[in-house]
Amino acid sequence: MARLDLPDDDRLYQALLDRDPAYDDRVFVTVASTGIFCRLTCPARKPKRENCAFYARPAECIAAGFRPCKRCHPIANEGRQTK
Ligand SMILES: [Zn+2]
Repeated sequence: MARLDLPDDDRLYQALLDRDPAYDDRVFVTVASTGIFCRLTCPARKPKRENCAFYARPAECIAAGFRPCKRCHPIANEGRQTK
């Protein structure tokens, strides 16, 4: 499976707005305005599109300088992802 083959940003942003559980643990969103990253299913208010970037792994978000969200705990399941 090509796990880095993410859908395009338009679809991912819509999934973020919808809190689509299909992408949970597969895609994470960084928010430039707050410096945190989240699961797409995060209950927090949704950021503006221009502040969002999407990554397949929490480690990539951290490497980019973002901290995990305290509400959705995006690294809670790290290492326990289903293949
Ligand atoms: Zn969050």
